[in-house]
Amino acid sequence: MKIGVLALQGAVSEHEQMLADCGVDVQLVKGVTDLIDLDGLVIPGGESTTIKKLLAKASMLSVLKDKILAGMPVLGTCAGLVLLTQDDALNGLDGQVQRNGFGRQIDSFEENITITGLDHPFPGIFIRAPYLETVGPEVEILGKTFDNRIIAARQKNVMVTAFHPELSEDSSIHELFITQCVNENKMN
Ligand code: GLN
Repeated sequence: MKIGVLALQGAVSEHEQMLADCGVDVQLVKGVTDLIDLDGLVIPGGESTTIKKLLAKASMLSVLKDKILAGMPVLGTCAGLVLLTQDDALNGLDGQVQRNGFGRQIDSFEENITITGLDHPFPGIFIRAPYLETVGPEVEILGKTFDNRIIAARQKNVMVTAFHPELSEDSSIHELFITQCVNENKMN
């Protein structure tokens, strides 16, 4: 099982470490050739505008979009959620995203979130986090904040969280994603 971590900007090494701790091979993805033979890809948090520019510069935007459309499992966290939702970026999840949606007064906070598929509340770490204002009919909502904002969701092969699972001690979101990659592999 080889899972890539998009390594252009942002919280790359934390995802790399967590995936390695889960026992999978990790490929840092900096260019198109790094996308070959991946069983899945993590798009980390960081600054979505910067990552989008760097994706375009590395000629990866359309290649990645096609791979996602073709069914490659992806997990997007924070800025990754933004990129996967925006029409002019990766457009893999049908929804309206509100960037920095929790406002300046609470730039960072932690909240225990009930996530569909997990048997315990997940310690969500939110850093200038987005949320999903609306989602399309094909999107399964996996989690909401206490004030009812959508902060975890899945549409087929695309899973997103507005929080940073790689910064917590709990690897269960990554394990959920790895299971998805394994299942996808079995089907192909
Ligand atoms: N606010 C950032 C953006 O929209 C995301 C923040 C993060 O990934 N921690 O790019």
